[in-house]
Amino acid sequence: MNPCPRCGQPGEVRKSGSNRCWVQCIKFGKDGNCKAISTICPTRAEAIAAWNKMR
Ligand SMILES: [Zn+2]
Repeated sequence: MNPCPRCGQPGEVRKSGSNRCWVQCIKFGKDGNCKAISTICPTRAEAIAAWNKMR
């Protein structure tokens, strides 16, 4: 997985329910001030692919 396109920190895969996955920066939200987040995808692989395409 690519590092965050905005700040260079690693991304982390998040999951909600059985078919909602996305990747967000580890500095996203309350733990930091980065707003990088991928689109929500049905699978982990698609979420990572979406994250890797972010610029
Ligand atoms: Zn970031």
